[in-house]
Amino acid sequence: MKAYDLIVIGTGTAAQVAASRVRRAGRSVAVIDHRPFGGTCALRGCDPKKMLVSGAEAIDWARRMHGRGVAGELRIDWHELSAFKRSFTDPIPKKREESFARQGIDAFHGKAYFASPDRIRVAEQTLAGRHILIASGARPVPLGLPGAEHAITSDAFLELAELPARIVMIGGGYIAAEFAHIAARAGAKVTILQRGARMLAHFDADVVGWLMESFHALGIEVRTHTTVTAMVRTGNAIRVQAQTPEGTVEVSGDLVVHAAGRAPDIAELDLEAGGVAAEDGRLRLNEYLQSVSNPIVYAAGDAAAQGLPLTPVSSHDAKVVAANILDGTRHKPDYRGVPSVAFTVPPMPPSACPKKRRAGRRASSVSTRPRCRIGLPRAAKASPSTATRRSSKRRAGGFSARISLVPTPRTSSACSGLRSAMTSRPTTSRARSSPTQRGPRTSAICCSENHDP
Ligand SMILES: Cc1cc2nc3c(=O)[nH]c(=O)nc-3n(C[C@H](O)[C@H](O)[C@H](O)COP(=O)(O)OP(=O)(O)OC[C@H]3O[C@@H](n4cnc5c(N)ncnc54)[C@H](O)[C@@H]3O)c2cc1C
Repeated sequence: MKAYDLIVIGTGTAAQVAASRVRRAGRSVAVIDHRPFGGTCALRGCDPKKMLVSGAEAIDWARRMHGRGVAGELRIDWHELSAFKRSFTDPIPKKREESFARQGIDAFHGKAYFASPDRIRVAEQTLAGRHILIASGARPVPLGLPGAEHAITSDAFLELAELPARIVMIGGGYIAAEFAHIAARAGAKVTILQRGARMLAHFDADVVGWLMESFHALGIEVRTHTTVTAMVRTGNAIRVQAQTPEGTVEVSGDLVVHAAGRAPDIAELDLEAGGVAAEDGRLRLNEYLQSVSNPIVYAAGDAAAQGLPLTPVSSHDAKVVAANILDGTRHKPDYRGVPSVAFTVPPMPPSACPKKRRAGRRASSVSTRPRCRIGLPRAAKASPSTATRRSSKRRAGGFSARISLVPTPRTSSACSGLRSAMTSRPTTSRARSSPTQRGPRTSAICCSENHDP
């Protein structure tokens, strides 16, 4: 039986960062994934999404410049745009595997699960670990309604070979908003069904209100207070039934996208065999991202679900876990002042008031100064094109985050423009004192810079 100082379940951002750091310290490390190596951000999330957003941005620019020196209509060729996206995502699994090999990290393909508190089973093998990191990410929450199987997930949306004419999005978060903007600019008629009172509940209400104008201008229909109750397939169409305060409604689409939330992907890890406590679908962790019931087990990123489900947070968690494994368990994550952006066109900053964020998140307990709200500058509200060139500053929990809303219609790397578009820097001596205490450095952006190695 092979034995390792660290066994990591997953090969996404959290896994890569932790595995590399622990390996660099001379420890033996194994990573395991049952899907192509690379994780959500690089293969099924931020990065491929940004490639598609690049197309939407180009259309937006051209339309806004129409009659101002730019003539003719542009349109999105979905096939070409998808091919462009694949040119980025296809090479990643191989590159990732090669990178693990170069670092001397053993990589295993297959579904991992606990065989005992310090043993992991994968592909007919048993591995023994001095430490085990659960970096298994998140998966869409089950919709739990009749006909739910007719809805596709964000993974499948990003892989669509054709874009259907009528698309129904279930959910009102940033994924629904971003996909709606992409699909509408590619010519689809999009309807969003949102249970809550408004879209983007964790974002500034004023800015969302302003952004809704761009939804309407694009022909995206947003129905709030609308709870989906069932889906029925009729020929090529799917009829989505929903409950509203006024009664039952029905919306037909050629495609329904489930964008109604994600939860830690831990159900198939056989946590019980590992003595790893979980409650209501979440791991029970202490403040060091360590299992409360099995001290050799840690979690990071979307699987840990302690900070916002964003790539820089996964990276930050991983650094904390690596430091805890290498230095002794004394490092805690710091989720204060995590900036994020919805990549609609124009992109949108969140509420800077952490107290407005989701209850139960650590960020929600941070006290902030009274004037913590940011929005787009006044001139920006009048003109989206101006908005995208201005910047705003915010400060929360010791971090000063500079947010420059710069559209990045780059074709060579969708990430590079974003990387320069958003930065944040620690401002307190405490924040400077330890790399693992600094908190995530960047926003809700994609990007390899958050993938440490
Ligand atoms: C559509 C979409 C768009 C997004 N856009 C952004 C964005 O713009 N900015 C941003 O910051 N964040 C974004 N996110 C969120 C971001 O992608 C995640 O927060 C981040 O990738 C999580 O990284 P992770 O390492 O925690 O998990 P993941 O990258 O999800 O990695 C988990 C890995 O574990 C593997 N795994 C799971 N269970 C097992 C098992 N039993 N055995 C073996 N392997 C297993 C999975 O196959 C997966 O590869 C987006 C997410 C989605 C879905």
